[in-house]
Amino acid sequence: MVHRIGIIGFGKIAQDQHLPAIRANPNLELTAVASQRGLKPDEARHTFTDYREMLREVTDLDAVAICTPPQVRHLIARDALEAGKHVLLEKPPAATLSELEDLRRLANEMRKVVFTTWHAQYNRGVDVARDALAGRTVRRLLVTWKEDVRHWHPGQQWIWEAGGFGVFDPGINALSIVTKIMPTPVFIRQADLAFPANRDAPIAADLRLSTGPEDTDLQAVFDWRQTGPQTWDIEVDCVGGPLLKLSHGGSRLEIDGSLVVEEESEEYPAIYRRFETLLAEGRSEVDDAPFRLVADAFMLGRRIQVEAFEDNPPH
Ligand code: NAP
Repeated sequence: MVHRIGIIGFGKIAQDQHLPAIRANPNLELTAVASQRGLKPDEARHTFTDYREMLREVTDLDAVAICTPPQVRHLIARDALEAGKHVLLEKPPAATLSELEDLRRLANEMRKVVFTTWHAQYNRGVDVARDALAGRTVRRLLVTWKEDVRHWHPGQQWIWEAGGFGVFDPGINALSIVTKIMPTPVFIRQADLAFPANRDAPIAADLRLSTGPEDTDLQAVFDWRQTGPQTWDIEVDCVGGPLLKLSHGGSRLEIDGSLVVEEESEEYPAIYRRFETLLAEGRSEVDDAPFRLVADAFMLGRRIQVEAFEDNPPH
């Protein structure tokens, strides 16, 4: 069965990942695109500048992939569900937990599928790490997620606005791996959030986590001020072993110093295969665990003001 998909918001991730993943999947057809700027790939039979027109006019559309910034996702997703469409949500799935809960409820009421995608979870190294950690006691976790914001988010203003998540936009990818691989739930104990003097979202964050009352050393450090190559690493050390190191965003895994997985990331093809399964089963998948940790970090976070950030600093 071919599912007819519409993309809403034709920015970087839609063009770099969603478009090729849909193209390469014979069970999916990119039927329509809604782009405020009027962008369109050749194969989309219908294009609109207003997504509401798309929902009204393309009556044979089965599902939409919402690839906009998070601040507007809830409203668009609500409209899509009420128009009888299944919904795939880019990460982060909404701007607030209450919005996501509303989408879960509405999808259930409308008998439609809502799917929260966490692309970093779709790496084989992540699955192997989760299996290796099952039943173990973690004593140390170190997440190091550092990259150059000017390289990865050139000119994107929404990430610096309140609700744009700042450094948690990439940091939530690391947390989506943590929540998938850790054998027990983790909690935020302390959060230091560094806000540039001229911005409404953090440029760096230092999180202390815990799995409960026991004595563990769990930390996550996110920083957008790193220049040169990015660092997307997660180290996990268990009582009595093993010692795991996931790197390159989850696509490379070492266990006790031996390389176990090293593969090109195929995250988005895997996301769309998962979506197909959910559509076939008529079942939603709403994973809010990474999102809750970010919300908790903002709730508990100590705000530290740092140097103003300019997209194009004077040379
Ligand atoms: P982006 O390049 O800024 O693209 C977002 C697009 O959404 C814009 O180009 C615009 O496209 C549309 N849009 C912007 N404001 C809108 C509004 N108010 N209402 C409706 N549509 C609006 O951002 P992106 O990097 O693709 O990120 C989009 C989402 O994907 C974010 O949640 C991000 O976390 C996630 N993501 C990004 C990456 C990445 O590497 N960039 C990776 C994974 C996930 P049109 O003009 O075509 O409407």
